[in-house]
Amino acid sequence: MRTEHLSEEEVQQYALDAAATGSTEPTAHLQSCEQCRARVADYRWLFAGIRHQPRPSFDSNFAAMVVAQLPPPKIRFSWSAFFVYLLIIDEAGLIAIGCYLFRADLAALFAGFGYAFGYLIAVAVTTVIVFQSLDMYVKYQKKMRSLDF
Ligand SMILES: [Zn+2]
Repeated sequence: MRTEHLSEEEVQQYALDAAATGSTEPTAHLQSCEQCRARVADYRWLFAGIRHQPRPSFDSNFAAMVVAQLPPPKIRFSWSAFFVYLLIIDEAGLIAIGCYLFRADLAALFAGFGYAFGYLIAVAVTTVIVFQSLDMYVKYQKKMRSLDF
């Protein structure tokens, strides 16, 4: 039998569930120690009081109350987004016009390359696009997880 008193953790564990302590040492000590038995009784009384506390209850429509407090979303025209889209459309149009006007020169430019060179370019471009897309998807997933959706 041990001579020192039980630790706080042992007393609490014994008060919660005497069988779950996994050792007979606390039981043997408690049979001879009035002070530790009083501490166990105090914790049992405390735990019983906690168990009999009324559960906190929220209004069932709590989410709707929170949403009602949020400011309405502002749909406004963004000049910066407008110019970015205008620039993208403009650049795509210029590239298309350039390709159309210089189609004969472009065909002659790439006619000198063999199929192997074209294949290498296609593989390199495809690889870069795949890795960029995967990276973007992983970042997107990480951000969505951080938002806890
Ligand atoms: Zn003791």
